[in-house]
Amino acid sequence: MTNFKRTRTVKVGPYTLGGKNPVRVQAMCNTDTRDAAATVKQIIMLENAGCEINRVAVPDMDAALALGKIVRKIHTPLVADIHFDYKLALEAIKQGVSKIRINPGNIGDAERTKEVVKACKDKGLAIRIGVNAGSLKELKKFSGTPNWSDKKWAQIMVREALEHVNILERLNFKNFLVSLKSDNLNRTVLACEEFAKVCAAPQHIGLTEAGTVKSAIALSRLLGEGIGATIRVSLTEDPRKQVRCAYEILKALGLREFGPNIISCPTCGRTQVELAKEVAKLEEAIYSDPVLLKKSTGKKIAVMGCIVNGPGEARDADFGIAGGRGEGLWFEKGQIIGKIPQNKWLKKFTDKIIKG
Ligand code: SF4
Repeated sequence: MTNFKRTRTVKVGPYTLGGKNPVRVQAMCNTDTRDAAATVKQIIMLENAGCEINRVAVPDMDAALALGKIVRKIHTPLVADIHFDYKLALEAIKQGVSKIRINPGNIGDAERTKEVVKACKDKGLAIRIGVNAGSLKELKKFSGTPNWSDKKWAQIMVREALEHVNILERLNFKNFLVSLKSDNLNRTVLACEEFAKVCAAPQHIGLTEAGTVKSAIALSRLLGEGIGATIRVSLTEDPRKQVRCAYEILKALGLREFGPNIISCPTCGRTQVELAKEVAKLEEAIYSDPVLLKKSTGKKIAVMGCIVNGPGEARDADFGIAGGRGEGLWFEKGQIIGKIPQNKWLKKFTDKIIKG
């Protein structure tokens, strides 16, 4: 059987997704899109945390009309998430987004679909077809949830995704990605794997409302098989965590380098310092400042709980601190350099990251 894991490529703003290109990280805002100022503020925070593509919900025309104000103030491609209203899609395109998420089979009238596709073609925009297990057409035939096997769920997801794919391909439109998501790990993985066997479109991968553990397992498996051009980790928390978690998965698989490797000890009876608090302060500083983030990428930074074992246990760190009561020993490559009062740890770390 043909295997399309080496997919064709799709342009989204400055990025080329798919093929051999880096897997890009995206997040979805949880602000009200009509509140452009709040949405811009959140996107800038996400950008500072390393997010490369941002998506916003477009539930009505006011939200669509706010997109231009948002696009003009951010630095990353914006994706407008539209369910079926072609007028919202056309307005989002007019307002300058880089990609729309819409399922062509849900737009209704063929002329409307043609109009949306033509507008995307004219502006070089991308489309994401998004098939979610919870909103499959096939489910309408059942009053409750059907008793399908995971394989059957996956087959139906793929079949419905291909219906949308065929509509775009008949209109000679190829700048699209496809996502097949469920909150069920097996169904998602099976659907993405099956789809990769039959269609060369790159995939946006993720689960719906899944949390970090399920996302890490499912996405690692797919990425390990070469499936996934862009990822989004769905979390019901600060959206910056979507970005951190996505990068942690990509870093663990050796697919992207991003931010430092912070080595902190698990703490024990020897610990005399609030280590978790110090690690959280350091992470917050790095992941909210693009300069610190860039300069710390690839560095191993240790934050250890005691001077007895800390420097030794973190011998291969580039630099770090081993905590004592009210102070810590600064060490570089396992060698102790000097003492730092606890209230100066953060400054010492940030200065070292900046100055090298
Ligand atoms: S580095 Fe020190 S405080 Fe941390 S776990 Fe090891 S012995 Fe305990």
